[in-house]
Amino acid sequence: MNVFFDVQGTLVAGGRPRPHTREVFQEIEALGHHVYLWSSGGPAYAARAAELLNVEDVLYGCFGKSGPLPVSVDFVVDDQPHPVERHGGHRIPPFDGDPEDRELWKVVEALRR
Ligand SMILES: [Mg+2]
Repeated sequence: MNVFFDVQGTLVAGGRPRPHTREVFQEIEALGHHVYLWSSGGPAYAARAAELLNVEDVLYGCFGKSGPLPVSVDFVVDDQPHPVERHGGHRIPPFDGDPEDRELWKVVEALRR
């Protein structure tokens, strides 16, 4: 599946990266999925976030949410309900900067089901 992660609120808050992003992306890839970032801030913003999160080498691409996409959106991870309702996926509580945050591992659990 193509798994699309939202950036703001989902993976980044106040310029801080959500803990475990890299390990979780690697685990999702190991399950046979392709991980993408997409953002309403556009592809360049998503690419900068990829750098901050140190996941550039694990990603299949960075996109804006409004533009046309070259692949299907099969599973989304988002802190807002609408993208999840539209595409299916996992709604994650917004990241609040907690260094002990482990919410991203629930995405792996959801993909294993
Ligand atoms: Mg968001």
